[in-house]
Amino acid sequence: HRWLLGMGSAPHHDRLRHVGSGGISRLNAVVLGEALAAEENDLVFPSHDFSRHAHISSPEQYQNMYERSIEDPAGFWSNIASQFCWKKRWNPEVCSENIDVRRGTVKIEWFKGGVTNICYNALDRNIEAGNGDKVALYWEGNEPGQDAQLTYAQMLEKVCQLANYLKNVGVGKGDTVIIYLPMLMELPIAMLACARIGAIHSVVFAGFSAESLSQRIVDCKPKAMISCNAVCRGAKVIHLKEIVDTALVESVNSGVPVDLCLIFENKSAMKRESTKWQIGRDVWWEDVVPQFPTKCLVEWVDAEDPLFLLYTSGSTGKPKGVLHTNGGYMVYTATTFKYAFDYKPSDVYWCTADCGWITGHSYITYGPLLNGATILVFEGAPSYPDPGRCWDIVDKYKVTILYTAPTLVRALMRDGDEYVTRYSRKSLRILGSVGEPINPSAWRWFYNVVGDSRCPISDTWWQTETGGFMITPIPGAWPQKPGSATFPFFGIQPVIVDEKGNEIEGECTGYLCIKKSWPGAFRSLYGDHERYETTYFKPFAGYYFTGDGCSRDKDGYHWLTGRVDDVINVSGHRIGTAEVESALVSHPHCAEAAVVGVDHEVKGQGIYAFVTLVDGIPYSEEVRKSLILAVRNQIGAFAAPDKIHWAPAIPKTRSGKIMRRILRKIASRQLDELGDTSTLVDPSVVDQLIALIDH
Ligand code: ATP
Ligand code: MG
Repeated sequence: HRWLLGMGSAPHHDRLRHVGSGGISRLNAVVLGEALAAEENDLVFPSHDFSRHAHISSPEQYQNMYERSIEDPAGFWSNIASQFCWKKRWNPEVCSENIDVRRGTVKIEWFKGGVTNICYNALDRNIEAGNGDKVALYWEGNEPGQDAQLTYAQMLEKVCQLANYLKNVGVGKGDTVIIYLPMLMELPIAMLACARIGAIHSVVFAGFSAESLSQRIVDCKPKAMISCNAVCRGAKVIHLKEIVDTALVESVNSGVPVDLCLIFENKSAMKRESTKWQIGRDVWWEDVVPQFPTKCLVEWVDAEDPLFLLYTSGSTGKPKGVLHTNGGYMVYTATTFKYAFDYKPSDVYWCTADCGWITGHSYITYGPLLNGATILVFEGAPSYPDPGRCWDIVDKYKVTILYTAPTLVRALMRDGDEYVTRYSRKSLRILGSVGEPINPSAWRWFYNVVGDSRCPISDTWWQTETGGFMITPIPGAWPQKPGSATFPFFGIQPVIVDEKGNEIEGECTGYLCIKKSWPGAFRSLYGDHERYETTYFKPFAGYYFTGDGCSRDKDGYHWLTGRVDDVINVSGHRIGTAEVESALVSHPHCAEAAVVGVDHEVKGQGIYAFVTLVDGIPYSEEVRKSLILAVRNQIGAFAAPDKIHWAPAIPKTRSGKIMRRILRKIASRQLDELGDTSTLVDPSVVDQLIALIDH
């Protein structure tokens, strides 16, 4: 069990010597002894065959690379960066940083002086390498049977046409373009077209309301906007253009007019005749873009020129415009994609996220295409027309890598195994999870049922701010523990600190911080560098503060415990909401749980749990008691919920995360202080919960 002891704790090089070779040979013994993935205690091993073919196939190999990445980051990353196309090589320093607020302004630069273009590297470079005819993108529409595909060469042509159009209407280097599109192929095309001409894209998730959209427009003052008339999601038609119109009226009122709106006609959802139009401002994509040449010279940019702005999901307050730049982001997303998913050229990769989130930026568009991968872009809803849709898609395209979120895993788990087992899923090789801690029971279901107990799961912990994976399994290298994101990626030095900012060693729980910068780190918050410093670098001087809590176990594995704002202090015990939720979800009748703290006269804080039951199970006193018992048994009596609130559904942000801010208000009965609920997927869920308060 102690085979990796010390590996995850304060992983600077002097700690690395503590990795016992006995542990590694134990791993090899188990892997060699049993040909298939062996589940021993809580360790889930990759199969011998999997490891043998993996880029990184043993802890030692990881260890060597990791050590180099920490001891000589400049050399390590320069080596990798050299595989990309640069018009001019970067300065000899490679990286210059100050992340210590006590030493002045926070500043991070990687590959400064280097001149490159991420679109060129994602498309032209792969075509020059002979992959022009390889499928870059499969597109699956909302309705089964609606599909399309583009090779790398075709995709480049489309990108160039749009890039030429944008240039023609005066969009140039450094200008911002808002992209408000659903998951059409035009979405990654639009991102790449902006990148090609050095414009800064800011994708706004097409589920956001007019108010949220206008807020973002006012913040980043775009030169142009790209959207479409409508989209079908499941059985619903959403009139995006109407939302755009409303948002643009609001932004004019706030003194930020947008002069140009390029609208794609999404014919299957809505005909152009029924679309409201503002002459002079609105232009149909199909009327102009195809007339432009299919070749467009690249605008070479400095590595530190901005690539995009992306507003975080806002589950913790006013959205922050996270700013990423070109060079470091390119190198980091490509490298993390390659290793965390053990990418091979024959893979078909599907990430169920939306390009409106960072996951869709780094791991639908940039990371995979930079590797020359074939990606799948899915427009529809995962349970439409039935809960088997995902597996139907996996079989149809022979998807090998499936990257999704715990919220979807839990939803599909709730729908029952039959929808999964009906399909072959033989093509699957690797599964991935992101967005929240994945409860061990959901992990096991994902692993055993979806992956037939043969596909490693990469539970990737990272953030909009980090650009790419930070703590993640490397699937062929070491065994996993269900619910743990395992160990740091190359170049990443996670540390766990106490309230005073002291690093804690060994087995512990505390605040997760990162020492030093990494190529994919965000460089600022748009227009508010002070907020950047205050939020991320001041709480624990000398570190980047992630806002998340984390435990490290005796084997050095990292367990994310959720946002530190969500830690509940019951009679002096600090309890992560994720822990209690996992215990509840492990109960066979519980489909989903959301736990928040409420004031408690005696204990300081009490635990209040919102619980959704599996379909067909009615809520009863007996169920309530057995749910509480599950928590008592798994964590201890001190963590037993004081209140179970039956919730037919739980309010979620549009990125699928539980909106705890609102749940806290409901739990403490501050019903007139719920705040803005417009960013919820379904605001009516809140009323349902209020109606069930005394149930
Ligand atoms: P905001 O910062 O606006 O409140 P957000 O934090 O939800 O929004 P993201 O950057 O998309 O926006 O999400 C990052 C957060 O998601 C992490 O800080 C962490 O809390 C959680 N998270 C992501 N992946 C994982 C994972 N694999 N395990 C545990 N938690 C995760
Ligand atoms: Mg966040």
